[in-house]
Amino acid sequence: MSTRTGKSATRAAADLSQVLRTVLGDARFPIDVEGLAFEVSRHQPDPISTVEKVAIDGFDGMLRPHPKRQAWQILYAEQPRYPGRERFTLAHEFGHYMLHRHDLHKSEGAATSAYRCLPLQMDRWTEAEQRREDEADTFACHLLMPFDDYRAQVAGVEMSGALLTHVTDRYGVSLTAAVRRWIEFTDTRVAMVMARDGFALWGRASKAAYDSGIFVRSGMEIPENSLAGLGRGGSLAATGRPTALPAGIWAFARGTEPVKELTIISERLGVSLSILQFAKAGGYQFEEDDEPWDSCDQFVRGVGER
Ligand SMILES: [Zn+2]
Repeated sequence: MSTRTGKSATRAAADLSQVLRTVLGDARFPIDVEGLAFEVSRHQPDPISTVEKVAIDGFDGMLRPHPKRQAWQILYAEQPRYPGRERFTLAHEFGHYMLHRHDLHKSEGAATSAYRCLPLQMDRWTEAEQRREDEADTFACHLLMPFDDYRAQVAGVEMSGALLTHVTDRYGVSLTAAVRRWIEFTDTRVAMVMARDGFALWGRASKAAYDSGIFVRSGMEIPENSLAGLGRGGSLAATGRPTALPAGIWAFARGTEPVKELTIISERLGVSLSILQFAKAGGYQFEEDDEPWDSCDQFVRGVGER
């Protein structure tokens, strides 16, 4: 059985969010993860002694015991082009400290044990490792982009390039992370599709969209006449406005319908990110789920993630 504190990753992040909101108000964004890690851990018998950004290939981040005293060190990889990913990785490692450091001490020799977070080796992870990685991602996601605040930022407004820029600036996260987080809580019918060379790498539909038959399959062909298919999404700055497309272009399990598409193309990564916004559904039967919809729990690492 787990030896964790019993607090879920979501709960742990929400508790910190609450404190930050009380102390700093609106000035808490983007979250100063390093400052928070020192402040929170300094009252513990095993505080975080170092947070260091390092120029190294081969890992995203690491939580390891201090070699000489009862303390922890966080290292995370420098990614100058992707400051949002750096912040996410740091928050992820802080999540391991909050949730898993006791596991680490018990399961292995303290002198050699460390969490090395290596996305490239995820196929070799054990089930327990996978669970801890997912929990650390969930913690980071909830800490950096609290639901209540995010919801207030986008309430009742169509998602546009300008609004996305506002959100990524406010939270200091990547575009992909921001869109995933939005899809997780919105009660509108929206989907995101990450594509390369005319095929979907992966995608995600909001609960309302999923319930109405919209499901993005990996490997799905990107429609020729969509903005993503035509490659005329342009940069986020250049377009920014969702374009109305008639039925017959984007098709999903229950057929096709008109959609508003906003596509952002990253030349650097060679991928496109499309946001599809559908009109309110009529006539579909919605089923109640037992589990709350939380795509943070399904964070997987890959191209364009974070
Ligand atoms: Zn990790």
